[in-house]
Parts: sequence; C-alpha cells; structure tokens
Amino acid sequence: MKQISCGSLRASNVGETVDLLGWVHTIRDHKDTFFIDLRDWEGITQIVTHKSKLKDETIELLTNVLRETVLKVTGEVKKRPPGTENKKLLTGEIEVEIKDVEILNECAVLPYHFKDYKNTAIQIRLKYRYVDLRNPIMLNNIITRGKVTNEVHRYMEEQGFIDIETPMLTKSTPEGARDYLVPSRVHQGKFYALPQSPQLFKQMLMCSGIEKYYQIARCFRDEDLRPERQPEFTQIDIEMAFIEQEDIINVVEGLLKRVFEKIKGIKVKTPFPRMNYKEAMTRFGTDKPDTRFGMELHDITDVIPKDTEIFQTIFDNNGIINAIKVDRYAKISNKKFAKLRRYVRQDFKAKDLAQIALKEKGTKSALKKYLDEKTIEKIIKAVGAKKGDNIFIIGDADKSIVYQALGELRLRIAEELEIIPKDEFNFLWIVDFPLFEWDYDEQRWTAMHHPFTSPKAEFIDSFDEDPESALANAYDIVLNGYELGGGSIRIHNPEVQERMFKTLNIPPEIAKINFEFLIEALKYGAPPHGGLAIGLDRLIMLLVETDNIRDVIAFPKTRNAKLPIGDAPSRVTTQQLDDLGIQIKPEVLQLLEEEKEEKED
Ligand code: ASP
Repeated sequence: MKQISCGSLRASNVGETVDLLGWVHTIRDHKDTFFIDLRDWEGITQIVTHKSKLKDETIELLTNVLRETVLKVTGEVKKRPPGTENKKLLTGEIEVEIKDVEILNECAVLPYHFKDYKNTAIQIRLKYRYVDLRNPIMLNNIITRGKVTNEVHRYMEEQGFIDIETPMLTKSTPEGARDYLVPSRVHQGKFYALPQSPQLFKQMLMCSGIEKYYQIARCFRDEDLRPERQPEFTQIDIEMAFIEQEDIINVVEGLLKRVFEKIKGIKVKTPFPRMNYKEAMTRFGTDKPDTRFGMELHDITDVIPKDTEIFQTIFDNNGIINAIKVDRYAKISNKKFAKLRRYVRQDFKAKDLAQIALKEKGTKSALKKYLDEKTIEKIIKAVGAKKGDNIFIIGDADKSIVYQALGELRLRIAEELEIIPKDEFNFLWIVDFPLFEWDYDEQRWTAMHHPFTSPKAEFIDSFDEDPESALANAYDIVLNGYELGGGSIRIHNPEVQERMFKTLNIPPEIAKINFEFLIEALKYGAPPHGGLAIGLDRLIMLLVETDNIRDVIAFPKTRNAKLPIGDAPSRVTTQQLDDLGIQIKPEVLQLLEEEKEEKED
C-alpha cells in the first residue's frame, strides 16, 4: 500500500489503494455519506465514506470526530462523479473512498481555529502558534522562507562564498540602537550584548584572509517596536575583500534574480537601474522610492515670488516648496482634503498642505488669497496639470519635512486610487549617499550608514573639514518602495577610521573602549573590503506578498516584545539572580508583585 501525501493524487491514480495521513480540515455529515477534507502540508484530499458500507463503530467514530483530529485513512482513489470536481484543488478530480480509518490522535475543542485568524487577537494566535501555522497560507509563508534560505546557501556557495558564524555573545557598544544585554555569571557585574549585526566581525574576517564571507545571521535590537520591526530579525550578511562597489552589486543582483526566479518563477532583468540619493529625494521625497508609478515631486520654490508673505520663513531659511500632481482628483470633498491635511501635519510635521483643484469651472485653492493668477498658472504649468487634476503643495524651511510629507502623501493617494501595479517588481539601487547626516537633537554629525563606511575617493582628504558635502561609498537595494538591504565599501586605513570617529564626535577614549580591536586590526594589514546585508524577513514579506512581518516568522514577538508561546520574558528565581550577582530594584519588584496579584485575581 502506498503512503501518499494529501496533495498528490490525480486522475491517473484512479483505482489505486492508498494510505493518507493528515488532519481533518473539515468533516460534513450528509445523510448517507461523510465527506472529510484531509489535509497535510502539501494539500487537501476529499475522503468520501458511504455509511452503508461502514461498520457501526466506524460511523460512530466519524460522527464524533472534531476538526484537526489526526487520521490515517486507507481507501481507493476514485474519479469524482461528473459535475462534482473541484477546480480549486489540485486533487479536485478525484476522491478517496474509505476502506479503513484510524484515529492517530484526537483534537480537543480548539481554543482558536486558524480559519478565524483575521478576527483573532495576535496574542491568541501567537499563543497557539502551532494551530495558527497550520493555516495553509501561513504554512506556505514559512516553507517559502526555508526554500529561500536554501537557495541563498546554494547560490552563495556557487559564487565561492564561505558561511561563517560570528558570536552571539558580544561586547555592548552604545552607538546606534539599544543592545539586548546578557548578564555574565562567570564575570559578575559584566554583560554581553546580543549582536545588532555581525558588522565588526565580518570586517575582522576580511582582516583574517577570508575573501568571501556570508552568513544568514540573526540580529537583535532592543527598540520600542514599530509595526514592521521585530526585536530579533535575520539578515543575509555578505562581505568581500579586494573588491569595489560593482562587485557587491553583481553578487546581490545575481542572488535576487535567482531567488525570484526559483521561488516566484519571475525573471527579473539585470542589471537593476540605479539612481543617486539626491535624485531619489528630489523626485520621490525618499531614498527608497516606489518607481512603479509616477506622481513625482516638483520643486516650485522658484515659481513663487520671493515676497509672498506666507512663505517668508521658508525663503529666509533657504527652504523649499514642492508639489505633486494627482490626475483626475480635483473632485475630492472638503472632508477628504481635511483628512489628507491632518495626515501630513500630524504624522510628518508639515506646517500645512495646500491644494489647487483644477475644476471644470476654474481653479479652487486657498492659495489664491496669497498668490496672483499668474503665479497659480505658473505652478499649474510647472507640474503639467490639466482640468480635473489636483495639485498638492507643501513648503518648509526644513527640506526633509517637505520630502517626507509629500513622499508619504504620494504613496497614500496612490494606494487609495489603486494605481500601483501589483505584479511589477521594480528593483532599484540607490547610490552616492551622503556620508553624514546632521542630528538636530544631539547637534552633531552622525554616520548615514555606519561609522565604518568609506568616503568616496574624492572626499577622503576633505570629509572631516566639510562633512556636509562628503559622499559615501554606500548603496541600498530597494524593491517597490521597500529598502531590502544596504551596505558600503569600508574604511580600511586606520588613520581614516580615526578621523571618521573624530568627525562623529566620538571621543578617542570612547572609540578606544568600543572599537580598539577594529582600529588595531586595520593597522596589521587589512585588505580593502566591503559588503552588504539584505533583510531576510522583508525579502520574504515581498515574496509572499504580506505587509505583516509576523506572517513570515515562525515564532515572532508581539508588539511589546513578548513571546506568548512559553510566555517570555519571564521572572527568574532568586538563585539564578544570585548566581549572576544581580538584584532587581525594589520598586520594580513591587510592580512585578502587583502584576502577579492582578493575574491571580
Ligand atoms: N551591517 C550593516 C547593517 O546591518 C550592513 C552592511 O553594511 O553590511 O545594516
């Protein structure tokens, strides 16, 4: 007898006797017949059971079977009667007529069934994740993830890369995001940090003579979670020695091309287009533009007379005024406009949003109070608007507010109007990033990528004197408006690295504590090197077409960083704390006790 998967039987198997093992997906008791959809990870097979042919105890067994019970069914493959085929199932032409059935394990009344996943709180879904993952959609996501990582290993190996693990217990460096800390028992009072990325270790590997490294690396960041973030996430981490930007770009294009072809059956064209950072910002307001549709930003700063009172602060501070044109959108209601206005003001700190609606009978715009007819005409011309279109305008002394607010408005309206083609995959390299960005809160320059990124050759001598103009040897790979990954050519000269720390205002003693081993390693014959990391979770999200990161991680955390299955984080025993030389602060202990009492009540 053949043991067969629930997704594999076809008309050609008719007449065979088979064993099927799986879960009861559904069971329908029709007067004379039971219909069971039996499911495993490959699919569903319809089992048909004529009561007249069954023993009494089998009828009783099936009458009481609950969904998700695990069954072994022995039966004969039959062609479904004409008109009852199910085109949606690969096995839809056949059914298996039961000869014998055995319950391998019963399923108690389920606290949650995956078919209700859309209306079930995420805490419940994650608490019963093993049930949640049985959902064929979820199962497909997780299996796809496995297939992608297999393909990554295969491709990287073919390209001559070596997979090397780097430590999980590392040193805490208080630059960037907050570290997850692990207390040391052997060295009481001291802590390891979980790595935010293997950055420094992969650079050490280059110094060790490894010329092509990769790793599917787990990374940790202890930040308040935003919807698309998880405290632990995975990167396809790559580093190469004796290479230039072009080499990394080639490897990554080959990798992505391969994954999309193998996993989605889509042939993507390489080389991917490239755009420099400045162009991306001025055309799309973002360094990760979705290029599947237009509605680009137009700079209308120079179209507006410099003595216009409402824009005075902008002109005085060298700010900008930008506009987007939305086709056939002039008819939006006042309420709708108010909503868009609130969106850019509340979420992106825009001072205001103006519109020029080109109605059938003349233009409608609050700006008419401040701008003469000629200027309005000039704006219309500058953005190429025609009757029926609408123009949205934002100005600010701070360029970045204009770019972000208008860039996000562009996306929101495009989504609402459903003008984004869903079956296109627009890969794009963003290159020529600035080396630094100004941190207004801390009043200092910070590294736009990270402090180990090399300036472009023409800025090596001048980057510390003129940080604002310096461009980096850094690149990001973007897909349909999402940053898939990024990387850079690194600094391999110890003096340049020290000048970099100085420019970033990292005092020498702090640089020494945090990065001494790197600076030292650069002194002992470091090869030129560079790399990149791709966010694996994000890549899978795009491949399986979900916008929820939890859909592509087998056991993700909730929004407040909890792991409901097994309930982590949790308290530990006093003995465990003693071993570590750690005491919980009394006020924290009190809160924990109160929480415990509340739970018990
Ligand atoms: N380590 C960097 C990151 O985590 C990527 C890279 O530069 O290779 O973003």
